[in-house]
Amino acid sequence: MDIMYKKKNAYAAADSAELARITEYCEGYKKFLDNGKTERETVAETIKLVAAAGYKPYALGDKIAKGAKLYYDNRGKSLFVLRAGTADIAKNGVRILVAHVDSPRLDLKQVPLFEKSDIAYLKTHYYGGIKKYQWLTIPLALHGVVALKSGKTVNVAIGEKDSDPVFYITDLLPHLSQEINSKTIAEGFQAENLNLVIGGIPARGEDKDAVKKGVMALLNEKYGITEEDFLSAELEAVPAVKARDVGIDRAFISSYGHDDRVCAYPEITATLQTDTDQTVLTVLADKEEIGSEGNTGMQCVLISDILDAVAASYGVNPAALRAKSQCISADVTAAYDPAYASAFEENNVGKVGYGVAMNKYTGARGKSGSNDASAEYIARLRAAFEKDGVIWQTGELGRVDLGGGGTVAKYISKMNIDTVDMGVPVLSMHAPCELVSKVDVYQAHKAFSAFIK
Ligand code: MN
Ligand code: MN
Repeated sequence: MDIMYKKKNAYAAADSAELARITEYCEGYKKFLDNGKTERETVAETIKLVAAAGYKPYALGDKIAKGAKLYYDNRGKSLFVLRAGTADIAKNGVRILVAHVDSPRLDLKQVPLFEKSDIAYLKTHYYGGIKKYQWLTIPLALHGVVALKSGKTVNVAIGEKDSDPVFYITDLLPHLSQEINSKTIAEGFQAENLNLVIGGIPARGEDKDAVKKGVMALLNEKYGITEEDFLSAELEAVPAVKARDVGIDRAFISSYGHDDRVCAYPEITATLQTDTDQTVLTVLADKEEIGSEGNTGMQCVLISDILDAVAASYGVNPAALRAKSQCISADVTAAYDPAYASAFEENNVGKVGYGVAMNKYTGARGKSGSNDASAEYIARLRAAFEKDGVIWQTGELGRVDLGGGGTVAKYISKMNIDTVDMGVPVLSMHAPCELVSKVDVYQAHKAFSAFIK
């Protein structure tokens, strides 16, 4: 018995067969990233995957048969995937995996289109925590829906194909930046300047707002929409970039929105591929980045309704079922970045390449706002991970009192369910392109698989 704890580099521990499995697994992940850049697209992409595996749509109120494989599509923005097991749920409860599929981005305002100095722009209101300067001068794509009064919904995706145009936010040239350079970053980069360039050709025979009219005519021709239809639209500007291998050894993947699709994908692959007789509820949530609010976020009673339906169908008391259930709140954590070493405490932060990371607690200023998972629950998980050879590490969101953050964990644990945060360490989190290590993504799949056995 080794009496000293030592973290393991998961790449160093992998033989060539394991390295090949990691590479292959991450090819699937990259496809998942490119096929779904928003919460709506990720839910649609996941429905394709689970439907292909035999999962059927569930209607609230329906009885759930033992052995059933079901999914509940909540408004196209969050998804509940249920494997109704044959194991005794009065004893084992439900194994719950939750990740979120919304990512920081720039949402269009409701009256977005304006023109200034013969350039047409779209006004945005940023969603989630961003460093505003990172979104300037990069190609941006526009994704989302325009809901019409007729009840019809128009899907929009512009900027992903090589032949598509993209959108762009300008920055001031360095030659003239002396004033901005002496300001703080918060003062120098204003949210109301995050306007997307959408056009520059004036419509013929118009003297006022001619470029804006030209843009609107093109949108009307392509999508059949009028300017008023923006009032009932959800359009999101996201980086027009694809997931790419990083490094000559291809150790890493850069992509928009690893947070938190890098946990959503392993959740889904673990759910579909693991041989288990447990009842498993896998959730893709929306609105985590703005506090899990609303009827598609994890503060919504819907998860409770679905657990109640499981309890009723199996003839188990719902409170007793919750007390026996367990959850992994699968969300990313900050990875140690040697370039910003002072932001972290090296022994307790997650490191890229060292496997999936478990955060016993999150929060800020003395764990405030955190779900602090119990030692007993973590011990049970340690045993399950060891049995399956999962390489995992602990994580903490940076140096104490530097900042902090939260996840959906506290909303699940509030229902009297043992819950802990666990996910892939991310470099440059919330940047337009984030970085993860492939081996950590693969270990997340192994961990979630061990959890639901
Ligand atoms: Mn997250
Ligand atoms: Mn986040």
